[in-house]
Amino acid sequence: MAEAAAQARVARGAVAWEAVIGIEVHAQLRTASKMFCACSADLRDAGPNTHTCPVCLGMPGVLPVINRRAVELVLSTGMAIDAEIASVTRWDRKNYFYPDLPKGYQISQFDLPLAAHGQLALDTSEGPFTVRIRRAHLEEDTARLQHTADATGRRISLVDFNRSGLPLLEIVTEPDIRTAEQARRYAEELRLLLRTIGASDAEMENGQMRVEANVSIRPAGTHGFGVRSEVKNMNSFRAVERAIAHEIERQAAVLEAGGTLVQETRGWDDVRNETYTMRSKEDSDDYRYFPEPDLPPLRTDPAWLDAIRASMPELPAKRRTRYVSILGLTPYDAGVIVADPAASALFEDALASAAGLPADRRPVPKALANWVTGEYLRLAKQRDDGGHASGAELTRLVSMVGEGRISGTNAKEVFGRHVGSGEPVEAIVSSMGLTQISDSVALSAAIDGVLAANPAAVADCRAGKDQAVRFLVGQVMKATRGQANATMVQRLVRERLEERA
Ligand code: ADP
Ligand code: MG
Ligand code: ZN
Repeated sequence: MAEAAAQARVARGAVAWEAVIGIEVHAQLRTASKMFCACSADLRDAGPNTHTCPVCLGMPGVLPVINRRAVELVLSTGMAIDAEIASVTRWDRKNYFYPDLPKGYQISQFDLPLAAHGQLALDTSEGPFTVRIRRAHLEEDTARLQHTADATGRRISLVDFNRSGLPLLEIVTEPDIRTAEQARRYAEELRLLLRTIGASDAEMENGQMRVEANVSIRPAGTHGFGVRSEVKNMNSFRAVERAIAHEIERQAAVLEAGGTLVQETRGWDDVRNETYTMRSKEDSDDYRYFPEPDLPPLRTDPAWLDAIRASMPELPAKRRTRYVSILGLTPYDAGVIVADPAASALFEDALASAAGLPADRRPVPKALANWVTGEYLRLAKQRDDGGHASGAELTRLVSMVGEGRISGTNAKEVFGRHVGSGEPVEAIVSSMGLTQISDSVALSAAIDGVLAANPAAVADCRAGKDQAVRFLVGQVMKATRGQANATMVQRLVRERLEERA
């Protein structure tokens, strides 16, 4: 860490500054219903204020009921970040007034979060780095405000209570992060983790995952904390990195000009590439937290925790290690595959199918990985639906290439069609008439034709010109519409030239 800190110095004029960054992430949990009521949490295509009830509208006299699934998802997140899981937790009221909060308070967790003292390891361009995580807790989301104008141009604010009461996971780091890049990588790795365990879809673009960065600076080599600002409204990973880099520069400029910083919340303007003041920041005292009287404390029974732990999938860090140390992939390929859950699932399915093949027809993991990182990801990116690739079909295709039944070039075309339609590769190969010609009798006929038609090239070959051999091989490939086994053609052409010499 000392090294990363040294590299993080922002040299400006005479002073070298070091940034201190802590990240708060809010993620909408993947549940069927809201946190404390039965309203559906699936808001796709929902008109404004259609997913509401007296509970999430904050009517007097109603009582909240805890969503068990939401608690489980926070518990599995806690396990995935190696945190201590509370045996007893409590709910607290966080009191403040804002039009998006109908009750005048938010049900959250204050001093007894479901999970605490975890960590997340990540790779950066400067090497590996571990961020300590202070806590992960559960709370309810607020309504959505939309600031707009009416028909006469008068400024109005609209409120949509569909989001009110959705289950929200909050994860807060220790102020361990020193660079804008580390912050972006933390957010990316956390998103991957949440998606892997199924806790959240965590799309930043539509607000399912919101990243807030607390940023301060201090003279490099000192240990105190400077005045921090909290930067919000970053809706991509790139924006996280740019906003923090900008904020570090801004604070340094203020201090170097002899100014003072104030603790405040700042928004990120992606278009103007700058942060701006939103409001001065409340301290937690201002929220007058107190225990939620309508909900009992929650006990996490050990058998329940064991069941959750047992149902956890393999986590990204472990999977990357396995791909490198057991399957022999490069760290780069392992990283690319694991970073994309669909690619990772495809690769796993392909490996499982390969394991069922006899050894002489079984593609090696590296060959399957090349198809996943190359063709699959290229094709999937071009499509909105990600395509219809099947691991079993990919294995079949790679094994056909290995056996010389189809050429590499044609295999790419077959795979493209398979990703588009999901049709089995055997069916595509036969409907396209692509089965590779590896039969030497059939190839010999084609070769004879090409040699007879190109006497000049044949003479050049005899004169030792290798280029002419390549030309003849190319002509045979052309004559067979790319279906010939290129390795066999090369061998047969050379044999035939020697025979004739
Ligand atoms: P709040 O909940 O009021 O925003 P917290 O004390 O919970 O405040 O801290 C929120 C985040 O800010 C944490 O990630 C913490 O590590 C980070 N943090 C606290 N002090 C500083 C500081 N001086 N500079 C940068 N980050 C800080
Ligand atoms: Mg905060
Ligand atoms: Zn409701």
